[in-house]
Amino acid sequence: MTEPFLPFALPEIGEEEIAEVVDTLRSGWVTTGPKTRRFETDFAAWLGAPGLHAMAVNSATAGLHLALEALGIGPGDEVITTTHTFTATAEVVRYLGADVVLVDIDPATLCIDAAAAERAITPRTKALIPVHYAGLAADMTALLALAQRHGLKVVEDAAHALPTTHRGALVGTLASDATVFSFYANKTITTGEGGMVVTRDAALAQRIKVMRLHGISRDAFDRFTAKVPSWYYEVVAPGFKYNLTDIAAALGLHQLRRAEAFQRRRAELAAAYDEALRDLPLLRPPRPPAGDTHAWHLYVVRLADGARIARDAFIEALYAAGIGCSVHYIPLHLQPYWRERYGLRPEQFPHSQHAYERMLSLPFYTRMTEADVQRVARAAREALAA
Ligand SMILES: *Cc1c(COP(=O)(O)O)cnc(C)c1O
Repeated sequence: MTEPFLPFALPEIGEEEIAEVVDTLRSGWVTTGPKTRRFETDFAAWLGAPGLHAMAVNSATAGLHLALEALGIGPGDEVITTTHTFTATAEVVRYLGADVVLVDIDPATLCIDAAAAERAITPRTKALIPVHYAGLAADMTALLALAQRHGLKVVEDAAHALPTTHRGALVGTLASDATVFSFYANKTITTGEGGMVVTRDAALAQRIKVMRLHGISRDAFDRFTAKVPSWYYEVVAPGFKYNLTDIAAALGLHQLRRAEAFQRRRAELAAAYDEALRDLPLLRPPRPPAGDTHAWHLYVVRLADGARIARDAFIEALYAAGIGCSVHYIPLHLQPYWRERYGLRPEQFPHSQHAYERMLSLPFYTRMTEADVQRVARAAREALAA
């Protein structure tokens, strides 16, 4: 008897989310409106620190673009980020005509190496984009200190980091200029597509609100409730179309309430994997420092040196056993666009390259069972023994 295919990721969407979407559809307000506004308010309250502005957008990519635009990043500027990320982290810098400077990771955390970031600073450097890889916080203490020393802006790519803490403080409440979360289908909470930008800077928040909807000085919700004529608006810049819909926000309202429960379930599954894979030639994911929260967006293992199978063959073997895996990420320095534009070579990124060649992301989502974990471990054991 063959077992059903075990996918790499699946969202967990419950009856409350479904009922809220249906309510939205019946309400007649399907684009940005009261539910988006409530999602923003709830999100800021959930982060729990005073003075936070939360702005919903239709993707984290959009949010990163808006944050950098609002910070004034443009042609001639350089922005430093990790090579070990999804292309969205870096592409937004190019949207603005600025240049991306990729640096290597710390092999212990797989997050950007703060010392490498500091060495990459030039007189043109304007900003840093740390990524909290897999849900483990980057070394924000070191990164924020070096940003301060060199007068750089910091935009956190927190696509994996809900909820993640650094030294006890939630990502989203740290001293960076802006933090951007993703609600893409496979992220720790989802709205299908969606994202949230968080900042304490009121002027930055204002610019982001204007630019996310065509450079119009107030969003649709304000237009239909304020005292000025409902048809009146002003265009103050050539903005973008990055607003979140109320249909998506309806999902987000309930997903957000479940974020802690989802994180606990992911942490349980990570512990189950750790135990089940303990005696195999695999490097298990790094743990957070004592007292800190790992969002456990991904469970990434690396084949140990001396494992008798190569990574690609290992993924093939798991796939043949009906198990879906992925690789996070093919580093940007290997991608044709980035490689050719900046003349990058793998030797410049030895830790990312080494990790990439050995890594795979195992199936990991809240609806998985302990039996699924055992099944993956069994298939891994067989593939590694072959
Ligand atoms: C998913 C992801 C993004 C992009 O998120 P979207 O909401 O799909 O735009 C950016 N950075 C990282 C690290 C991601 O994993």
